[in-house]
Amino acid sequence: MNNHGALPTSSYFFHRPMPEGLEGLNDLALDLRWTWSHFSDRLWERLDHETWERTGNPYFILQSVSQARLEEAAQDLELRRDLQSWLKERKDYLKEPGWFGATHATELLQKVAYFSMEFGLSEALPIYSGGLGILAGDHLKTASDLGVPIVGIGLLYQQGYFRQILSPESWQAEAFPYNDPISLPVMPVPNLEGGWLRVKLQLPGRTLLVRVWQANVGKVRLFLLDSNDPLNAPRDRSITANLYPGGQEQRLIQEMVLGIGGWHVLEDLGYQIDICHLNEGHAAFVVFARARSCMMNTGLSFYEALWTTRAGNVFTTHTPVEAAFDRYEPTLIRPYADYLADLLKISRDQLLAMGRQNPNNAHEPFNMAYLAMRGSGAVNGVSQLHGQVSRKIFQTLYARWPEAEIPVGHITNGVHVPSWDSPAADALWTKHCRKGRWIGTLDNLCSNMSQVTDEELWNFRVSQRLELIHYVRRRLERQLREHGAHSDLIQQAHHVLDPNVLTLGFARRFTAYKRPTLLLWQRERLLRLLSDPHHPVQLIVAGKAHPHDDEGKRLIQTWAQFATHADIRDRVVFLEDYEMALAQELVAGVDVWLNTPRRPLEASGTSGMKVLVNGGLNLSELDGWWAEAYTPEVGWEIGGEGIDVHPERDASEAERLYQCLEDHIVPEFYDRDQEGIPRTWVHRVRTSMSKLTPQFSSNRMIREYVERVYLPAAAAYRHRSGDEGKRAKDIQQWKHQLDEHWPLIRFGEIQMAPAEGGFFLEVQVYCGEWNPQFLCVELYADGLDRAEPEVHVMAQRGSLPGMVNTYVYALHLSTQRPFDHYTPRIIPFHPDISVPLEIDYIIWK
Ligand SMILES: *Cc1c(COP(=O)(O)O)cnc(C)c1O
Repeated sequence: MNNHGALPTSSYFFHRPMPEGLEGLNDLALDLRWTWSHFSDRLWERLDHETWERTGNPYFILQSVSQARLEEAAQDLELRRDLQSWLKERKDYLKEPGWFGATHATELLQKVAYFSMEFGLSEALPIYSGGLGILAGDHLKTASDLGVPIVGIGLLYQQGYFRQILSPESWQAEAFPYNDPISLPVMPVPNLEGGWLRVKLQLPGRTLLVRVWQANVGKVRLFLLDSNDPLNAPRDRSITANLYPGGQEQRLIQEMVLGIGGWHVLEDLGYQIDICHLNEGHAAFVVFARARSCMMNTGLSFYEALWTTRAGNVFTTHTPVEAAFDRYEPTLIRPYADYLADLLKISRDQLLAMGRQNPNNAHEPFNMAYLAMRGSGAVNGVSQLHGQVSRKIFQTLYARWPEAEIPVGHITNGVHVPSWDSPAADALWTKHCRKGRWIGTLDNLCSNMSQVTDEELWNFRVSQRLELIHYVRRRLERQLREHGAHSDLIQQAHHVLDPNVLTLGFARRFTAYKRPTLLLWQRERLLRLLSDPHHPVQLIVAGKAHPHDDEGKRLIQTWAQFATHADIRDRVVFLEDYEMALAQELVAGVDVWLNTPRRPLEASGTSGMKVLVNGGLNLSELDGWWAEAYTPEVGWEIGGEGIDVHPERDASEAERLYQCLEDHIVPEFYDRDQEGIPRTWVHRVRTSMSKLTPQFSSNRMIREYVERVYLPAAAAYRHRSGDEGKRAKDIQQWKHQLDEHWPLIRFGEIQMAPAEGGFFLEVQVYCGEWNPQFLCVELYADGLDRAEPEVHVMAQRGSLPGMVNTYVYALHLSTQRPFDHYTPRIIPFHPDISVPLEIDYIIWK
């Protein structure tokens, strides 16, 4: 099938016919590229200004605009010209090979399937709740720009994440508006017969039908699955109704729909998949589905098929706390596991063992992250620090291995810059770094941006802040009207905030570990900052709490009530219903973006990266991405060290937050020269913009995924699936023998002698019947001062005279460290197998 083009028009189900001259509009409206290429904004605005402003959904505009308006638009020559030039621009974009097409042999990577429980592409497609989803959305958008062959798999929720309304007491209430799929920018996927593509999923006692929708993200297709099919049993129709439902069983079935149903969709559509990328453990059931397909296609057994397919599975973990992993109690999952185990021709216990820490403990819940670990050939966290934290978390699966060697790397998140730059920032960057700058390798962006003059940069910042303030006033007014506020209050909303005052932004999920109220630690001190007669600051705050998180709701209430203080009402605004559209405005306009999590609980954090391109600065805990990005030239930090949580540090970090504002940020912002420019501030903005924007872009992130993960994993997968399954059979056979012989392998005598600059070591290893070619004997020492551990391979010096199956390994090591820092160990070796990810055996002396 044609994976890159739009499906033929004849197969559209619900399109409203467009008048002559406007035929291309449906295609444009169904390509979510309008979320990052603002080329077409003018067109939608002209068609129906109000609907565009309220919904940001062009597809809905085409459905709701009057026929008379359409006919009129069809006569509007200028509009038609715009449309034609946009259609041409889109056609060119779709043909553009991008970085991947231009620099890599595309046959080395046919297709990556990216599985995620949520996708944050636009507020017009509300199937996301926060950072995880927005990262997934940015991943697809960037893959489109760079020509990386990806297809997305997700769920279409009839009720996405909730909308937030505050009660008169500032307590969060939730509304769950119904997403009418007909008005979302998605369309049904036809099957070969021209009907609606559905896949079947076997559940205990019944078959679930799952309908398939398609969203276009530039060159990338996103398939969304939904169970609201009239042919399903009534209660099954609501399986995909909510994002993150309360019930465990519904959640389990959703994850089966994502992993297993998603895999079937790819098969039915004829995709040749090299890589399955599991964005969080939610998608881990694809490990089973993919292995099952491999069994059907090759006749391999489950474990042989797992050896083959695992090499092509990639797992990205996103949480820094073990408690956040999805787990299912044995009694809940058993009936589902029985069915799966039958298909895979293994026992239920064998299947459940894949999700347990201790494979033999039948009482242990089934952990989706463990399944993802055991089913993947590469695993990564989302920042350097989070990689470290994840190694600690997953150490339970590799009990006898040192923490530093737990097989979890990291690729630091990034944001899709064209989605988060304001039109003015786009213009500024275009002037200095040309158009199309985000689709290549970002060379020269930094040096070009460092040429921008102080005057230009400061004028840009001033206008960005002014625009934000206008937006906040409009939004606040709407918020007050919706609450039926008194007209005096609405009148006041027209004057809140001051375009010349240092503007701080804080917006994110409200939950205890993010410490949203750290800035309120000493209210008097904050009030002084806000109401300083000469050098005041002002604050814009937004954020939702999880519907069941009363602590988070209390934190919202604290801020919202603080914002109503009569003395500072013009200086602090709490905006309801934080979502992507609001985030876009905030990150474009604020001077300083604040982030105060308890280290190391923010795995990466991405909102702070969104201010970079717009010239905003970061003041943050040294956690997640900021622990890597921070230097004194680009922003400010409020401390944080280690990988353990220390709530008792709240007080000292709050103190540092105030000091930073009082002693550094406020003085620097207001330190103006004769031209009215704060030179040091502007210098800092320039450094942060030019150095950090490319580094924390998803462009850099995707290139790392491609080069460090996707390409090697695709090569490994092809190698293992080669030879018509013989390699996988050989590996399984080999592993079988290893299991048999491993218990007999042991150390014999060990001899150490001081030698030139260190020591000389000889160890004897008894190998039993096992071929020593498949062993590796190493000398290990923990790293000093957080350095990487030392691992030295010992050379085999032949067999021990007079003994059977006993070999001597030797090493001359030059080192300052004493011998007792070192321990010899034996691990399995096989050129195709990743140790310890795939085999965690280890024998220590
Ligand atoms: C970027 C973004 C997030 C994630 O940001 P964090 O830094 O992880 O809090 C959450 N919600 C919205 C609407 C966003 O735009």
